[in-house]
Amino acid sequence: MKKNPELLAYCGLYCGACSFKAAYDKNLREHIMTLPSQYDEYKDKPLQFCPGCRMDPGGADCEIRNCARDKSVDHCGVCDDFVCDKIADFCSDGVPHHSEILSNLYTVREIGEDAWLERQRSKWTCECGATISWYLRKCVQCDKSIH
Ligand SMILES: [Zn+2]
Repeated sequence: MKKNPELLAYCGLYCGACSFKAAYDKNLREHIMTLPSQYDEYKDKPLQFCPGCRMDPGGADCEIRNCARDKSVDHCGVCDDFVCDKIADFCSDGVPHHSEILSNLYTVREIGEDAWLERQRSKWTCECGATISWYLRKCVQCDKSIH
């Protein structure tokens, strides 16, 4: 059985570290308050549930998600067109957490989804058990610094 496959977004982002998902899941706005300034418009909006990009209804209206669904691929790393311009542009659009997607997708191809998901879960979980999201500098639960 696959472990939380919904947490691998089509584009290679790990939904388990998503600031919006973490904020909603624990009702902790701190996860989104630490986002870079291009997300300022979301910081005083109500927190919204998202089950993960691969689930319905999930994710934002996204051309990468639409494209992967049209092609019926599990994620962009298994698409015949990988690496396409859409993925390359998203990776280099200047948003810090987007820059991980290509290396994420290469790693998924190399070690498989389950091992990658386990690795990500461990990377984005504090030793106290709390979720670490993309821009958190210290744990919301135990205050430990995150490097
Ligand atoms: Zn902690």
